[in-house]
Amino acid sequence: MRSIESDSATQEHQPDGSGSNNEATGGTAGKVYLIGAGPGDPELMTVKGLRYLRGADVVLYDRLINPDLLREARSDASLIYVGKGPGCHSMPQEQINTILVSQAQQGLTVARLKGGDPFVFGRGGEEALALVEAQIPFEIVPGITSAIAVPAYAGIPVTHRDYTTSFTVITGHKGRSASPAVNWRALADLGGTLIVLMGVKALPDVTRQLIEGGLDPATPAAVIQEGTTPQQRTVTGTVADIAQRAADAQLDSPALTIIGSVVNVGDALAHYISISGRTAE
Ligand code: SAH
Repeated sequence: MRSIESDSATQEHQPDGSGSNNEATGGTAGKVYLIGAGPGDPELMTVKGLRYLRGADVVLYDRLINPDLLREARSDASLIYVGKGPGCHSMPQEQINTILVSQAQQGLTVARLKGGDPFVFGRGGEEALALVEAQIPFEIVPGITSAIAVPAYAGIPVTHRDYTTSFTVITGHKGRSASPAVNWRALADLGGTLIVLMGVKALPDVTRQLIEGGLDPATPAAVIQEGTTPQQRTVTGTVADIAQRAADAQLDSPALTIIGSVVNVGDALAHYISISGRTAE
């Protein structure tokens, strides 16, 4: 059995491909850990992610990170916030990449904490590519994505043999103009579970396009806000009325929408959810 103290050979990326540290950078380079911090509940961070967080000289974190996790950083670690302020824009991605690279070039160990999983709509891929380009050693520590964990805390399994053979995670946020368009008709045809991240404001648009694409308007749907935290709130309905119900309940970001007959399983599990102390509405 492997000790959890041992480093993973498979996740490490050394710029020279040798697997040994610092040769290509004159022995001075630090290292960056791109760490998934989980969806909100601080106990949903991985053991490995926590170990790297505790050892870091510098911690870069954004808005969706549970602030309790920052207490796990060393008391002398620098904490750098790179998320959105209220009503402000996020720090441009290029600037975040520059900070990651420059801190590592000073020989520091950097923990880059990201909500959920770094590679699920988390721009972890962009940061990893920037690190490759700058020849900075790095390691990816996957996290528990909100796409699966948030429905789970609301009692909704993303798959269930009786209801669905697939789940698809999409963004409701209109990306860069270069981003490929969403094929709503194909999603409607697939008939699987659909999980929409970043889409509370766009929910009226998303549901309309799914119905126009052929999805049955009676398909069950739920919006879950601040999932896996004590503030978790769930609103359920159908694809036809979920946008209005979510607006009436004043649900706001961070929230995700799950669409498909698995949502009905959540109703069946409502008793379990209330006894386990999680909020269900
Ligand atoms: N990398 C993240 C997703 C980043 S995109 C992950 O794997 O979870 C940000 C979106 O994730 C939010 O707009 C919201 O749709 C969703 N999200 C993240 N945390 C959430 C939470 N605690 N409750 C509900 N939705 C959440």
